[in-house]
Amino acid sequence: MRSAKVFKRIIKRNIQSKKFDIGEEVAPKFYKTNFINSDGDLQEKTKKIYGRKIPIKTIISNEVNRLEKGGVLRHSDYEKMTQEQFKHFCTKILEPELAEHHNGKDTIQQKEKEWKLKMWHDHSDILNHSYVSFMTCFLYDPINFLTDEEYAERFPVKKKIDVQSFVERPQLYIFGLSGSSDKEQLTYTETRLEDLANVTKEVENIKPILRVFTGDNPARQFESGQQRGGKFSCVCGVPGSEHSNFMKCYFTEPLTLEERRKHVVSGQAWQSMASGVANPFQGLRKEHIIEELESRGIWLHDEKKPIVQDKLTEILHGIVRPPALCCLHPLKSTSELNIKYYEILACEPLHDLTNVIQNLIQELPHHVGENNKQDFLSFSDTTIGNKNQIKGSDARLYVVKLAKFSIQKYEDCF
Ligand SMILES: [Zn+2]
Repeated sequence: MRSAKVFKRIIKRNIQSKKFDIGEEVAPKFYKTNFINSDGDLQEKTKKIYGRKIPIKTIISNEVNRLEKGGVLRHSDYEKMTQEQFKHFCTKILEPELAEHHNGKDTIQQKEKEWKLKMWHDHSDILNHSYVSFMTCFLYDPINFLTDEEYAERFPVKKKIDVQSFVERPQLYIFGLSGSSDKEQLTYTETRLEDLANVTKEVENIKPILRVFTGDNPARQFESGQQRGGKFSCVCGVPGSEHSNFMKCYFTEPLTLEERRKHVVSGQAWQSMASGVANPFQGLRKEHIIEELESRGIWLHDEKKPIVQDKLTEILHGIVRPPALCCLHPLKSTSELNIKYYEILACEPLHDLTNVIQNLIQELPHHVGENNKQDFLSFSDTTIGNKNQIKGSDARLYVVKLAKFSIQKYEDCF
């Protein structure tokens, strides 16, 4: 067994020899601790610490190499295709409308080079310290990468692979000490923006587009500038009490990041962000609330504090500041910041679907008719059994199994 000391030495050596890439120092902070010195006095010590970042540019060029070597890149020659072949191809990659496009081949050539990035981050405690970790990866899209069938055709002797999971292998982007407050998490914004400004300029051959954020709450609330908890905790803007009102939810369009940013800067309270305030609408005095409403063209007869506060809450529907990446320059549009296509999901697919899947598996046996009931019951029993609460990742697997099971049953019948 290796002692911690030896282990530390091995790691240090590998970092020095660049075998381990721990990235660049980012987001410097001062970290205070206290200790008892040899005289028995309590002393305070301040240390400068950093988070670490592997620049997106580096991640992208490593990933391009890895995917190129893996043989999953498309590299199609559209000019050689006949119109019929091209039509067939468009259907295969789920872009049938491009076949009808008057310059479909040029468009597809361009789109093949547009690779979408996904971002994810979360908070966690390690040994009593709170850390934030950002991960990123390219999203699988058959317009950029081969389908499983094409891969098998191209490499008949190689083992079959799931191209999507090969492409979407998560890469560590930023890791650092950070509390869970907006203010602390925003310390990583500057370096994130620098990266985004660099990606389009510096990566040859492909055009990376930051496309989607897939984290859970509260990371999603942070990323979009929504309050955490409370009446308007959902990014969609529908109050929690109205979430079972399907009509209301159905007719509410979640705002884009640009719309959220514009909504914030259409008043005046946001200007306090320049002096370091992270949530400019929080704790406003009555006269400031009235000023804020008036700057948005809203004049109330009754100027009692609860009335004006309620009005502001209703207008903001949970928006507490601009989206995280817009906080440094609230007046810059999302196109200028290179995040025009960035979308923060309005739901947590894995968590939200867990209960639906559980219900489905438990209820289905009672709806498939007497002939199949027993089989579905025993399927339900072997997957869920007597578990009260299933985990999201398990639920995802169960629904895949359920699909397989049902297809097999269906095929057996005919
Ligand atoms: Zn919602």
